[in-house]
Amino acid sequence: MARRIGVLALQGDFAKHAAMLTRLGATALEIRRERQLAGCDALILPGGESTTLTKLLDSYGFYEPIRDFARRRPVMGTCAGAILAAREVDDPRVRPLNLIDISARRNAYGRQVDSFIAEVAAPCLPPPPRFRAIFIRAPQIVRAGPETEVLIFLGPDPVMVRQENILALTFHPELTEDFRIHEYFLAMTRG
Ligand code: GLN
Repeated sequence: MARRIGVLALQGDFAKHAAMLTRLGATALEIRRERQLAGCDALILPGGESTTLTKLLDSYGFYEPIRDFARRRPVMGTCAGAILAAREVDDPRVRPLNLIDISARRNAYGRQVDSFIAEVAAPCLPPPPRFRAIFIRAPQIVRAGPETEVLIFLGPDPVMVRQENILALTFHPELTEDFRIHEYFLAMTRG
């Protein structure tokens, strides 16, 4: 049976995630109402703008339903989605969901390098050993708690972190032609 993967579609680059999931044979569901979560095996929180997403999550009543979903099912947050999945964020305008024990600092890599690409070592993925990671106004994970596992680093900084069924990454695998991170996430839905 094809996995049914929800992609939060309130704002941001949800369509790129959905396209990648479809190419991998999964059923991608664009989630705009919390009741749609019931039909999903897993959920992706895409990149976008975490301040805007905070307002939308609040007005559509998503906070408790996503927290509840994340107790049972895999959730992956990318970039703004990782900020929302975090336990703490440096910006008081962002209200995180507290799904994974990390602290995030928004836009931490500076204005002049708003966007950059880095070849990061990815021992958690099948070969080749590196992943071309695209960072767009990325947050920095300034703390990863003792229950987390850092799967990918950029220099000293964690950029892909897992805690049980929750995955947070500060870059954008959906903007590449490399499916390995989405495949890794799909494997999490199979237990
Ligand atoms: N800078 C955005 C934020 O802080 C994240 C950017 C992104 O998702 N590409 O929410």
